[in-house]
Amino acid sequence: MRSYSLIAFAKINLYLEILGDRPDGYHELVMVMQSVDLADRIDLRANGTDTIRIYCNHPQVPNDNTNLAYQAAELMSQQFSDAFARYGAVDIAIHKQIPVGAGLAGGSANAAAVLVGLDMIWKLGLTQSEIQELAAQLGSDIPFCVSGGTALATGRGEKLATLPDLDHLYVVLAKYRGLWVATPWAYKMYRQIFSESYLRDPDDLESRLRQVHSGPMIAAIAQRDSRQIGQLLHNDLEKVVLPEYPKVARLREAFQRTATLGTMMSGSGPTVFALAESQAQAQQIKEQVGHAIADPDLELWVTKFNQCGLQVAEG
Ligand code: ATP
Repeated sequence: MRSYSLIAFAKINLYLEILGDRPDGYHELVMVMQSVDLADRIDLRANGTDTIRIYCNHPQVPNDNTNLAYQAAELMSQQFSDAFARYGAVDIAIHKQIPVGAGLAGGSANAAAVLVGLDMIWKLGLTQSEIQELAAQLGSDIPFCVSGGTALATGRGEKLATLPDLDHLYVVLAKYRGLWVATPWAYKMYRQIFSESYLRDPDDLESRLRQVHSGPMIAAIAQRDSRQIGQLLHNDLEKVVLPEYPKVARLREAFQRTATLGTMMSGSGPTVFALAESQAQAQQIKEQVGHAIADPDLELWVTKFNQCGLQVAEG
């Protein structure tokens, strides 16, 4: 088949702890990542030329080689030059639903879709872990976006351990349309303020990782204990993003006043999410927060935990 459509799901972070610095300039992280069913559609079509072409319907997403999805196709064409020569490049059309610069890994999900889609179009037969190795060369969240579901992510986010599925939970997502946060800025600020407390000894890092792995959040996930999960949500980046963006802090407070299981900023923000046990409860939380804030710039979605990062929609 020469064309595929893939559905690429957003993610939220149920847990994000910054442990220390890495020699490669990234941070040593421990995160619990969760796919949610807010998604972009990526249409891929072999174009019979040697030029990758990209189009996205969102004005903030670049239609050139700075687009992460373009870079994914470029990496594949370099790695698999025989297949590229035989089948040619692709046209990539991204239909954006995931808000941009939101902490929901929209760009990463698009890149993951291109890696998986090209594997199919070029009939490469790569394994998921082979695709994830390529994904790690492009960005830290991309390996997770390939597999999705619920996972513990360590290293700079590229080392993954699958966790039991939590498909029973609903999520309300909220983001101000005119507000976005650059992920590198958030990490840089965090380093400036908190690097004194970074773990530097590899043994200390190892021991903290083990603590988290055998700690209460992972246990709550294993037991599918929604209340505990809600109470144990954590994100170190809130410490730098919330003071800089008071609107986001107020949004989080508004969620806290509802019957949510728990609320937190996702990734580097500015999206705030709230967990709910049922769709009806999620809908009620959405309405309550929409009413309390009453700002036309605020967008709210009711979504559900998803068991995968990507889905093939049609040929
Ligand atoms: P993360 O949670 O992984 O940090 P994010 O959700 O905060 O990601 P993205 O929506 O992925 O952020 O976009 C961040 C920046 O990347 C945007 O400013 C955008 O211009 C650029 N970008 C490049 N390619 C894409 C893409 N395919 N989709 C969205 N943004 C892209």
